[in-house]
Amino acid sequence: GHNLGSDGQAREYLREDLQEFLDGEVLLYQLDDLTRVNPVTLETVLRCLQARYMADRFCTNAGCTLVALNPFKPIPQLYSPELMREYHAAPQPQKLKPHVFTVGEQTYRNVKSLIEPVNQSIVVSGESGAGKTWTSRCLMKFYAVVAASPASWETHKIAERIEQRILNSNPVMEAFGNACTLRNNNSSRFGKFIQLQLNRAQQMTGAAVQTYLLEKTRVACQASSERNFHIFYQICKGASEDERLQWHLPEGAAFSWLPNPERSLEEDCFEVTREAMLHLGIDTPTQNNIFKVLAGLLHLGNIQFAASEDEAQPCQPMDDAKCSVRTASLLLGLPEDVLLETVQIRTIRAGRQQQVFRKPCPRAECDTRRDCLAKLIYARLFDWLVSVINSSICADTDSWTTFIGLLDVYGFESFPDNSLEQLCINYANEKLQQHFVAHYLRAQQEEYAVEGLEWSFVNYEDNQACLDLIEGSPISICSLINEECRLNRPSSAAQLQTRIETALAGSPCLGHNKLSREPSFIVVHYAGPVRYHTAGLVEKNKDPVPPELTRLLQQSQDPLLMGLFPTNPKEKTQEEPSGQSRNPVLTVVSKFKASLEQLLQVLHSTTPHYIRCIKPNSQGQAQTFVQEEVINTRPKLLCTNNSLLLPALASRISHQNFVERYKLLRRLRPHTSSGPHSPYPAKGLPEWCPHSEEAMLEPLIQDILHTLPVLTQAAATPGDSAEAMPAPMHCGRTKVFITDSMLELLECGRAQVLEQCARCIQGGWRRHRHREQARQRRAAMLIQAAIRSWLTRKHIQRLHAAATVIKHAWQKWRIRMAYLAAKELDGVEEKHFSQAPCSLRTSPLQTRFLEAIIRLWPLGLVLANTAMGVSSFQRKLVVWACLQLPRGSPSSYSVQTAQQDQAGVTSIRALPQGSIKFHCRKSPLRYADICPEPSPYSVTGFNQILLERHRLIHM
Ligand code: ADP
Repeated sequence: GHNLGSDGQAREYLREDLQEFLDGEVLLYQLDDLTRVNPVTLETVLRCLQARYMADRFCTNAGCTLVALNPFKPIPQLYSPELMREYHAAPQPQKLKPHVFTVGEQTYRNVKSLIEPVNQSIVVSGESGAGKTWTSRCLMKFYAVVAASPASWETHKIAERIEQRILNSNPVMEAFGNACTLRNNNSSRFGKFIQLQLNRAQQMTGAAVQTYLLEKTRVACQASSERNFHIFYQICKGASEDERLQWHLPEGAAFSWLPNPERSLEEDCFEVTREAMLHLGIDTPTQNNIFKVLAGLLHLGNIQFAASEDEAQPCQPMDDAKCSVRTASLLLGLPEDVLLETVQIRTIRAGRQQQVFRKPCPRAECDTRRDCLAKLIYARLFDWLVSVINSSICADTDSWTTFIGLLDVYGFESFPDNSLEQLCINYANEKLQQHFVAHYLRAQQEEYAVEGLEWSFVNYEDNQACLDLIEGSPISICSLINEECRLNRPSSAAQLQTRIETALAGSPCLGHNKLSREPSFIVVHYAGPVRYHTAGLVEKNKDPVPPELTRLLQQSQDPLLMGLFPTNPKEKTQEEPSGQSRNPVLTVVSKFKASLEQLLQVLHSTTPHYIRCIKPNSQGQAQTFVQEEVINTRPKLLCTNNSLLLPALASRISHQNFVERYKLLRRLRPHTSSGPHSPYPAKGLPEWCPHSEEAMLEPLIQDILHTLPVLTQAAATPGDSAEAMPAPMHCGRTKVFITDSMLELLECGRAQVLEQCARCIQGGWRRHRHREQARQRRAAMLIQAAIRSWLTRKHIQRLHAAATVIKHAWQKWRIRMAYLAAKELDGVEEKHFSQAPCSLRTSPLQTRFLEAIIRLWPLGLVLANTAMGVSSFQRKLVVWACLQLPRGSPSSYSVQTAQQDQAGVTSIRALPQGSIKFHCRKSPLRYADICPEPSPYSVTGFNQILLERHRLIHM
């Protein structure tokens, strides 16, 4: 079987193949819609986004969503009023390049069309620093231009004022609600929904802002390398000399709640904030009052307490903090001693008579109370500002009929240490995701209907189980945390963890990190699992504000604080302790849940539009697209873009491309299969349109689909027959809808077929090569044999020639020898030989024979030496005769003649009679010893004749 998931190499091949496939398509950066990328996979989508980003095309459609990449560089012409008008005037703005303005114009036209639901909403999502605030700002500017075309100059002025105010609300809210974080220099630390109100003529008459979950803890506690809200830096850096004196902010003063003041950001522009506040109707004295209170908070942060040795005695401020106490109380309009005492001492009312008990707080609690005071003031101030903005920009309810809502939500968050804030933020994201999925599915339903597919088979990812875990009834995480607050009993973090784990054990979205030593629980969100620490969760949910703190602020002489903390007894503030009262506790979670439900109600009543902002890199660099970071963006791209929201049917491939790429799979088709009776989705195939060219592709697609059982069988391991069934794959009128896993299966099958083909080609080639080599070998052998025989013939010819030469030479030599011998014999006297005594007893015949020989003795010697001609005995006789040896005494000499197989006479020995060396040059005898004084009667001429003949020459 194929282990598809773990086979990284196979994936790499797939990636290369897809890349190759895409290279053959239209230039990627020209694709305006990610759903047109073919096939739609994470790889291809990322490649397309990257190609577009590098070509300065930052916005791309993804079905019903607009994906906006953060350029991280100013591009003024991209947001110019001229471009806004161009999109506004275009007959079909969707045909223009994808842009935030396309969404703006679409919503505006929807409102104009009066088709229900008339009201529109734009959900701008993305992680921190992705460009949500920027996008929202662009949209507001767009509406300020296009929704302001009043007939008369007077109305124009009014409209301009409203639009200007709406735009001015941005810098003010950003100054008070945004901060520099690790991820973004201008991170919104709250969520906001801006309702742009339009009259019957679709002119902007007003706006309303609703905010959610301001991160107020940032006032008193900032993570390292992060900063407090921008406004604190603005006043410290931008105040005039006079203002510095008034607010006790000397140049270079150090404040513990003002970390990293040396970093100068473009957001630190005090003047812009003041200007915007002025436009919103916040006059300069009020502004000064606000800044004075903020300066008071900075001094409050410098009050450090020393631990008290006696528990009964309150902790005293450290020496250098005493001055801060004085300044803070002065700036906040509070009596110094009352401020200090309220922070140092807790008052408890108990009993029927509500007796008051005073208990000095330990040092840590003093710090908590001090921080709580600052958070209380800042949160109220922020709410007040929002209300001022609203009163400045909000139109009368009867002056507007429709609205366009702009939701700038904080993205999904997951930190090493997550608490109630992250739980609320992620809960909101889950809710919005559910809303998006519902909307997305509606859009999908339409696409499927166009493709002639049934909707019922779509098995989409639903996050209802996660929402049930967080907010469900009767028991959920929220209900359990709220219950802990209501019971008002001391509960430990471990107890809370156990309660959650036991009560919600059945939820598929609840996990527990067994490795973690700190009490915690894990929620598996749609965007990934997040571990929440239970420590401090209940306290945060209570958000307890000691009543004496509120009472303290009610005593303030500062006009602003007096407005923020009125003393009207009827107005029971939500911070009042309600542990003893019967009213339900208003916890952070319950308040958040209520406002979220309200928001979702608004969203449900509108036509939603989605803009997904994406950060191409975490460093905020222009022209840098880091694929890994975009893949890991939270929430995952997979979940929020059109094609990848539904992993079950992620890829769509046009019929043409599908056939081109996978037609070779038909080779895998079992021969027994008779076409249409395949288990594969003949049911998914639509009614084919007979005259379209798609109809021509039908048999091919059918053929390919029939190969799928073979592929799935091959991919299945023996044990998983149930899982072997493939996820759905459906064939629409123009596209094939297919799962990623099925796509991988097809790719594997394709690779398999290609491999088979490669093997076949290799086999053929090898056979061909072998044949060729054998043929070459045979030819070489033939040539070699021919050469050899030619050489042999040549050799033999040469030998023949040599033999002929030798024969001729030998014949010549023999003749010459014969001649020489004849010549030598010319001087021998016949009579000399005839007088020699003959003591040998021989027959007359022998004697005649010997005599005949003696006359020709050199010839006789020659004959005796030849291998043929004379027999052994005769040979001896010849020698005797030739040498005229005495025949009577054979013991005095011996004659050795050559054996037949030996090379002639080797030696002839006679008795020593004195010798003389004789050399006969012309004789075949090399030398001979002869007697120096030969006796005239005896034949003693030859003592020894040595014949150097080692080899017989056979002629
Ligand atoms: P978010 O609200 O999602 O946290 P912002 O909207 O504050 O993120 O964007 C972060 C930074 O990215 C901005 O300060 C700005 O410098 C840059 N930025 C975002 N969108 C754009 C854009 N369309 N053009 C130029 N710069 C942008």
